[in-house]
Amino acid sequence: MDRVYNFAPGPSMLPLPVLEQVQRELLCYGDTGMSVMEMSHRSKMYLEIFEQAKADFKDVMGVPEGYSVLFLQGGATAMFAAVAMNLMQGGSADYVDSGNFAHNALVEAGKYGTVRVAGSSREDNYTHIPGYTLDPGARYVHITTNNTIYGTRWSSLPDTGSVPLVADMSSNILSEVYDVSRFGLIYAGAQKNVAPAGLVIVVVRDDLLGHALPITPKVMDFKTMVEKDSMLNTPNCFGIYVAGLVFRWIRERGGVAALEKVNIEKADLLYGFLDESRLFRGTAERRDRSRMNVTFVTGDPDTDARFVKEAAARGLVNVKGHRIVGGMRASIYNAMPVEGVQALVSFMKEFEARNA
Ligand SMILES: *Cc1c(COP(=O)(O)O)cnc(C)c1O
Repeated sequence: MDRVYNFAPGPSMLPLPVLEQVQRELLCYGDTGMSVMEMSHRSKMYLEIFEQAKADFKDVMGVPEGYSVLFLQGGATAMFAAVAMNLMQGGSADYVDSGNFAHNALVEAGKYGTVRVAGSSREDNYTHIPGYTLDPGARYVHITTNNTIYGTRWSSLPDTGSVPLVADMSSNILSEVYDVSRFGLIYAGAQKNVAPAGLVIVVVRDDLLGHALPITPKVMDFKTMVEKDSMLNTPNCFGIYVAGLVFRWIRERGGVAALEKVNIEKADLLYGFLDESRLFRGTAERRDRSRMNVTFVTGDPDTDARFVKEAAARGLVNVKGHRIVGGMRASIYNAMPVEGVQALVSFMKEFEARNA
């Protein structure tokens, strides 16, 4: 059976060498005689896997001194609540409403404090990153660096002064270089660029720890979880192991800077074609285009549906847009090779010749 090019938004493709290594090690990891799935999270062997994964993440992400890294559960969605419970301290926080997940984050945060919408592109169907005004008294400013559903991306970070910048980086973490010191807190669900679902990575500046609301569940209290090295309870052992292999794969490929170049090349290939196409057009505003999720339409829902179906028959699967926006979306995360994007563009050209 041939593997397909999977353009799914998440869970999504993982690097083939990583999957092959997982397969080789699945029944017996090293000389343990057991699978990573069967290991105690407190065992010496597992703790080595865990600490190595953490060290490799810090290395590829460029996490400086003064920040802690957590491997938690509950996905980015649990962090929508956790961020507010840990950082809001009964005050107010600024949220930029740039997409569906950004919106969900601010609705959730509103249960634990005052949310001020600093800017929103909701009225424009989230086709761009909105302008915003910041409250200097906010506890933090929350942004979504890449909007997975609408295909937009912050091309430069807001200057929040001394107010901590918090980012949901679920769909573009490790796909481009970020200066972590610009952020107070970063979180990212793993199932787009890092690992199987069920793992969420948190990078938190240490001075922000220790202010959680008393109602905060222990598993969501970042200070407790830092003190327990993410092991207050059983973590997602297998997901962390796969994440560790992906971090090493990233380093072998030359690190995030090298992947960023390839990601720009892939995105340029697709947008370049969309901009000259007589049939397809991109839906996100040019200046805010995502490099990870490329959204486009033909303008006719029946033609869109036919395109999705015919693409799948060619092994180009999951190019259907999110159910709330329709059209198409090609998610081209780190693990999608250039060849996959080339194959998609050449099929789009062929489809256009038959349908334009
Ligand atoms: C996928 C995604 C989420 C939701 O992640 P879960 O892990 O399913 O909770 C949140 N934010 C962004 C930007 C996403 O892409």
